[in-house]
Amino acid sequence: MSNTARIANVEAGHYRIPLARTLSDSTHGEIGSFELVTVRLWDDAGYDGVGYTYTVGYGGSAIRELIEREVAPLLKTLDSTRPEAVWQAMWWRLHYVGRGGIAGFATSAVDMALHDLSAKRAGQPLWRFLGGARDRVPAYAGGVDLEFTLDELLAEVREYRAEGFTAVKIKVGRDRLEEDVARVRAVRRELGWEFTLMADANMRWSTHAAMRAIQALRDQNLYWLEEPIAPDDEEGHRQLAALGVPIATGENLHTEAEFERMGRRGRVAVLQPDVTNVGGVTAWRKVAATAGARGVPVSSHGAHDVHAHLLGATPNAGFLEVHRFGLDAFLTHNLQLDAGAAVLPERPGTGLGFKWDVLADYQVDGVG
Ligand SMILES: [Mg+2]
Repeated sequence: MSNTARIANVEAGHYRIPLARTLSDSTHGEIGSFELVTVRLWDDAGYDGVGYTYTVGYGGSAIRELIEREVAPLLKTLDSTRPEAVWQAMWWRLHYVGRGGIAGFATSAVDMALHDLSAKRAGQPLWRFLGGARDRVPAYAGGVDLEFTLDELLAEVREYRAEGFTAVKIKVGRDRLEEDVARVRAVRRELGWEFTLMADANMRWSTHAAMRAIQALRDQNLYWLEEPIAPDDEEGHRQLAALGVPIATGENLHTEAEFERMGRRGRVAVLQPDVTNVGGVTAWRKVAATAGARGVPVSSHGAHDVHAHLLGATPNAGFLEVHRFGLDAFLTHNLQLDAGAAVLPERPGTGLGFKWDVLADYQVDGVG
């Protein structure tokens, strides 16, 4: 049997998934749906792999086009058993229009599919295939709740607690800081001082506004304050990091180099790469290793079904984010949670089984 296996076929899909409930944060306002872009590939040895990326509503068509028109023809010349070589080929093919952005989303989905295929070929779940650092990962419920009334917010955190979560994140970044402070205080009162509580500002503030917010929230024992400011200002992060509330960021950093600079210059406490936009499993693991060398834990953003595997393979793993953008209705298996931790599956690959017939109803047509 040959060691090589050419990528024989590649298919991309683009879907708009309605959310059961309108969500809200300080950057995107109200969010009623998200876009899912899938990649399925097959090699000539008969193995298949599935990957995906998602957007907060915009850009999915361009990502799908990039995969179909530019990436798929390249992939069909490459060996599926060499994901690193494929990653390099995609990176340099798209470099001039890439280094993150939409190219990063497209290559992420492909790289995820290739790792799914590789782990299936080995007959192992991805977390074991990548080294198997742990078989359970602590999880938190990531609320997307900025515009919820206080009653709705409290009802939701009670729901999370009832589901077994021992850690919860809520949104901040409302028009008046006093509102944020009141909401954090109310949630803290509801959950008690032992409960792990994070807050996420989705880049709403200037550095000065973030300083005021940290001052006002300092006595609430926040586990971290996420994305207080835009991700480009590493010096601003460094200033905030010195104020006594741990800072987390990463969902808007889309290359290894951006993460390396944020870790080195920004001195944040937690880095949060997202496998669906940082360049797939290949880049995610490099970001995690660099953070680990600095003694910084990595948590995840979104895509909890796949991130559970990656955190399971990472010695410096922090929390797995579990949020309501979940694909539960479209997957044959859902994330298993036990006492606030994700229990890693033994199905080969990522174990992502999409219900393609159910997804078909949400397909986005091309422009024509
Ligand atoms: Mg966030």
